Amino acid sequence: MIITRSKALEKEVELERLIAKISGSQNGPTLVFFAGIHGNETAGIYALTHALKNFSKTDLKGTIYAIAGNLNALSKNKRYIEQDLNRMWTQEELDTLISKEKLNSEEKEQLEIYKLLQDIKDTHSGPIYFIDFHTTSSKTLPFITINDALINRKFSQLFPVPVVLGIEEFLKGPLLSYINQLGYVSLGFESGQHDELDAVLNCESFIYLSLVYTQAMDKEKLLDFDMHYNQLRKQSDIISDIFEVSYLYRIKPDENFKMKPGFKSFQIISKGTLLAESNSQAVLSAYNARIFMPLYQKQGSDGFFIIKSIPPIFLKISELLRKYNLDNLLVFLPGISWFNKDQGILSVNLKVTRFLAKQIFHLFGFRSQQLDKSKILLYNRERVSKFDLYKREAWFKK
Ligand SMILES: [Zn+2]
Repeated sequence: MIITRSKALEKEVELERLIAKISGSQNGPTLVFFAGIHGNETAGIYALTHALKNFSKTDLKGTIYAIAGNLNALSKNKRYIEQDLNRMWTQEELDTLISKEKLNSEEKEQLEIYKLLQDIKDTHSGPIYFIDFHTTSSKTLPFITINDALINRKFSQLFPVPVVLGIEEFLKGPLLSYINQLGYVSLGFESGQHDELDAVLNCESFIYLSLVYTQAMDKEKLLDFDMHYNQLRKQSDIISDIFEVSYLYRIKPDENFKMKPGFKSFQIISKGTLLAESNSQAVLSAYNARIFMPLYQKQGSDGFFIIKSIPPIFLKISELLRKYNLDNLLVFLPGISWFNKDQGILSVNLKVTRFLAKQIFHLFGFRSQQLDKSKILLYNRERVSKFDLYKREAWFKK
């Protein structure tokens, strides 16, 4: 048991790993909410504690879990103690974790969460939804981040907020990428700036909408559905486009990096805008686009991202390419072959990527990882998706 404090609410709450588990009186989906994977991001913790208190078994179908992330860091209101808990979920790290004798603070947390995850996977056979709550150090509209699989895209488009694709290509080992690789619907919701009240309210509205969209709760039973929908719609300035990350400014270990004050996520910037200072040198924007998640806290090494909206026609084309498995045709091109067809992994000679832009592979649903100097591996998110689990759901057929 730990105690964590919310600056926004001026309140403290006692916390255990499992914040809540509610089993409904009828069969239904499984929803798994995470909050506080970063210990200074408490909005989701409070929203879950508050919202889930109001439910009784008879209101719900299926099972709801609410899981607290980095307990030790939450008790100290820090992002992490020794290691970022949201950058540790690679298969290699998980393989060594289990046999390690001495675990650091975050490895202990990770092991507990990992076991809980295995347990949930083994217990429930129907559709499972994973939702991870975060907040940002800068001011921001609320938004969803996903790995770009069609099941994620379709599900996240139900919510009246912008959706950002492709962050995982720039980050190593976020929890949701690991879960996504297992084939489940998984999305991150960034509800606002760390300590503002709206970040808590947005999370709460997101919880209610999730329950209705997954059919864990009937819309008629939730009297203020429209109020929650409008809360998110208003907070996101009625922007519900899909964006793609095109650049990340990575801060080097010894670099003295400082964002210029006042930038807000989704703010439109132009080429040449002074964004930050690095070792007293100006950092200028190379893009006419939108700035995303500028860093205004000490811990963390992602300086800022640049995002661009994806034209709807591209979204449509990529849906068709994926539906009909047209990536099978890519291997007829020189320099491209299957590294592992069942797992949907292509091996691509880097010379090929010089004339075939990364964006083309994105259309087919691949994300890339550099293997060595001459090759990259491309992972297809569609081939591992558990379509069959979700294809009978109301939102999937839309
Ligand atoms: Zn976070």
